[in-house]
Amino acid sequence: MEQTISKYAVDEQGYYGKFGGAFIPEMLYPNVEELKEKYLDIIYAPEFQEAFHGLLKDYVGRPTPLYFASRLSEKHGAKIYLKREDLCHTGAHKVNNTVGQILLAQRLGKKKIIAETGAGQHGVATATVCALMGMECIVYMGEVDMARQRPNVERMRILGAEVRPAKSGSRTLKDATNEAMRHWINNPNETHYIIGSVVGPHPYPDMVARFQSVISAEMREQLLLKEGTETPDYVVACVGGGSNAAGAFYHFLDEPKVQLVAVEAAGHGVDSGKSAATTALGRDGVLHGSRTILMQTEDGQVVEPHSISAGLDYPGIGPLHAHLFDSKRGIFLNATDEEAMVAGVELSRLEGIIPAIESAHAIAALGKLTFKPSDIVVLNLSGRGDKDLETYIKWGGY
Ligand SMILES: *Cc1c(COP(=O)(O)O)cnc(C)c1O
Repeated sequence: MEQTISKYAVDEQGYYGKFGGAFIPEMLYPNVEELKEKYLDIIYAPEFQEAFHGLLKDYVGRPTPLYFASRLSEKHGAKIYLKREDLCHTGAHKVNNTVGQILLAQRLGKKKIIAETGAGQHGVATATVCALMGMECIVYMGEVDMARQRPNVERMRILGAEVRPAKSGSRTLKDATNEAMRHWINNPNETHYIIGSVVGPHPYPDMVARFQSVISAEMREQLLLKEGTETPDYVVACVGGGSNAAGAFYHFLDEPKVQLVAVEAAGHGVDSGKSAATTALGRDGVLHGSRTILMQTEDGQVVEPHSISAGLDYPGIGPLHAHLFDSKRGIFLNATDEEAMVAGVELSRLEGIIPAIESAHAIAALGKLTFKPSDIVVLNLSGRGDKDLETYIKWGGY
């Protein structure tokens, strides 16, 4: 991981174009300011890089394979590679970021970790690295989500984390986020807050993107060996908050010949009122500490999103993605619940890989692009489908 200068990098004030910044209560200012002042020096110190890459290799299992999916390629008429983030320890890309942030927290002298979680995936990744480092871990989770995602609650508890129910509002992710923020305000000195995607106040979106950028760094090396070029024609990834997509796009941002395709969740359909297709439906506003694009009513109330995949069930996107959309650097597509489920089964049957339903949205988008047979497409397979077995069973269309 090296420091790169990109025209899509965050600026000194924490902005990507007009998106980003740090819209936070005054009480959080010292914490966020400390992070902003120190994060780059800490993460680019050689000793940190050695520790980070050592754990990514021996604990997470990196580099993840870049797998040529021949039957999927035949179906879509292009050379399609899968970046196998589903093979990471804990089953998804999220652990790349939690490993980075826990090492950072240690170097900031923090003793406790807090996190918020919706479906529990980020909570499990955080509880995992806290166990690894022997740090105390508190995960806030909406009471409704705790009931819906029982296995992940128990995973976190087995790993030694305390799961605290958020009992206000709709008792889901947004309320858990509010509780975690409140905890951080009340315990600023000893606690680090691990945010799970490229969202939140600056410097979180940039910091998380840098930790996840290992994905595209590996893609370049692996493509060079397999295709004799470091750059594909397309990189395709699903977007909830946008961390796996940011990691997959990162080292290609300044190469306009590489088309960056972000796939959002259209739920029951973009215009159904039950969707999470943020760029199709949203407009500018402030969500969780940064200016971005979010789904909102006329008078600015955040709209409840819907997606069959918990990881994409978010009413905004990170500010980098808002900028990629606004500047037209990125191509933003969406896939419905049904299209994603069909694509998940398609990948299972063609390649013997059951994807996370989040990742299945990216697979579904392959059918919406027009390829030449020589096109090299890298699809970021963000996670595995084990956690989604119940949803596949309930859907039943296989
Ligand atoms: C959480 C999650 C996502 C969505 O998060 P991003 O920050 O947009 O990457 C996508 N895929 C999987 C498997 C996840 O667990």
